[in-house]
Amino acid sequence: MIFQLLLGSVMLLSAVVIVTVGDVHHPAVLAAGFAVTFLATALSLVVPWDRLPRWAHAMIPALDFIAIGLFRESSDVGGLGLLWALVAMWAAWSFGIIGTAISVTAISVTYWWLNLLAPEPIAAGVAVIFPLIIGVLAVITLVMAQRADGQRTLLERQSHALQQAATRAREQENLLAGVLDAVDFGVVRFDSDGVTTVTNETHHTLQQTRDCAAAAVYRADGVTPLELDDLPLARARRGETFDSELVWYGEPGGAGRRALQATARRVTDPSGADVGGIMVSRDATAEQLALRAREDLIASVSHELRTPLTSILGYLELALDDEALTAPTRRGLQVAERNAGRLLELIAEVLTASADSRLGIEVRIAPQPAEVSEPVLAAIEAAQPRARARGMTIDGAGVEHARANVDLPRVRQVIDNLLGNAVKYGNGDGRIDVGCTDDGDHVWIAVRDDGPGIAAEDIPRLFERFYRSERVRKTSIHGSGLGLAISRDIVRAHRGDILVRSEPGSGSTFLVRLPSLATEPGA
Ligand code: ADP
Repeated sequence: MIFQLLLGSVMLLSAVVIVTVGDVHHPAVLAAGFAVTFLATALSLVVPWDRLPRWAHAMIPALDFIAIGLFRESSDVGGLGLLWALVAMWAAWSFGIIGTAISVTAISVTYWWLNLLAPEPIAAGVAVIFPLIIGVLAVITLVMAQRADGQRTLLERQSHALQQAATRAREQENLLAGVLDAVDFGVVRFDSDGVTTVTNETHHTLQQTRDCAAAAVYRADGVTPLELDDLPLARARRGETFDSELVWYGEPGGAGRRALQATARRVTDPSGADVGGIMVSRDATAEQLALRAREDLIASVSHELRTPLTSILGYLELALDDEALTAPTRRGLQVAERNAGRLLELIAEVLTASADSRLGIEVRIAPQPAEVSEPVLAAIEAAQPRARARGMTIDGAGVEHARANVDLPRVRQVIDNLLGNAVKYGNGDGRIDVGCTDDGDHVWIAVRDDGPGIAAEDIPRLFERFYRSERVRKTSIHGSGLGLAISRDIVRAHRGDILVRSEPGSGSTFLVRLPSLATEPGA
């Protein structure tokens, strides 16, 4: 269409030139030339050419060819025949070799025929050169068209290949995104400036967990607060690499506390240049809690084994003091004492190994109505040898009858711990008073020693797991710092509590308060 507008304009311009400067011999032929030009231009604008077969497109250059012939014949203005070159070029461009051959032949034959009819025939040289020029121009156009065609085909192939590559890349991206979203660990990729480029759904879910508890983040031990700057993601963005870094989100002991484990790596391109990093994280709460529960179990079991074992050792020592023993009995008792001692050392080692566990213990009790004075008296009896060995006396005169809904072995465990501490930390040659009473609301068990007492700053922390006062840590008295924590967990499981009153220099009193049987619901 553009070609026709161009050619039509040139032809009309030529026609105007003919009318103004030339000598018009045949006005009717000129008018016919005008008409055919208009027709060709109008058709090129109106007809929906893309819906017609390809050969129909030849109609327009054919009309132009006729119009140029008519213009040429209407006057004596020379050179109008050169406009046929444009028609030949159009035909060569649009219809290839066939278009070139037909148009050049048609133009040459018409040219010769019109010149034969002319009153003054042109020179033979011109008769050859004119069609030759038209032919050369048509062939040049044909070559250019073929080249353009070749380039277009090449471009189309390249664009097709590019499209296929883009589709493949999109498919792979979708596949990768699908896989990443299906896995249950968070993945985040960032560029060398630390800007996030890829994440998966789990990462967002974990991120929400972090955001909820962002105010309280703790290191792997679960209790040391962590600066937000030291969070794994912040460190990974800064370019650090690490393996299975554990972080706790949420207050110790709080519901919904989560543990997250993260690993960060740097990513390099094929030339080895650093192009960013990747961090993989996962929710490690369940396994961490299971791990801690196991450590707690080991810690509390080992701790509880110590009390009866210490009592056994005390009685063995007492028995060995008897000079009337026969030699074989003495040897047997010595073997028993050695092995009990060894057992105590093993338990101490287990306790040390699990000393990094600081979470609370879940205590399960099976309470039933029972006489509380019984385990109290039994504990006194078990502690006697150790007390005697230190020159101490234990006075159980204050133990009265008291009934409560309790798990007896667990209550015995508590009294053993308190009495054990009183013997360990009390003054040599001192005395320990143990009492038990029921005031109608509560059953009270008291263990009082006249030892060095406890400093005011230690009292709030006495019931923390693994806490031992500084004064005691400097001595050679063994301990794990677990006894009071376990005792309080047991007593609280009975809906009671343990209180401590102490002043440095005037001994310590530990009071266990349990709900009396009379106040128990349903009693
Ligand atoms: P352990 O005795 O194994 O160290 P506990 O939890 O039983 O652990 O006691 C915690 C700390 O409380 C002890 O290390 C000690 O500092 C202090 N303590 C407990 N009982 C007494 C007591 N009767 N007199 C002085 N200090 C005590």
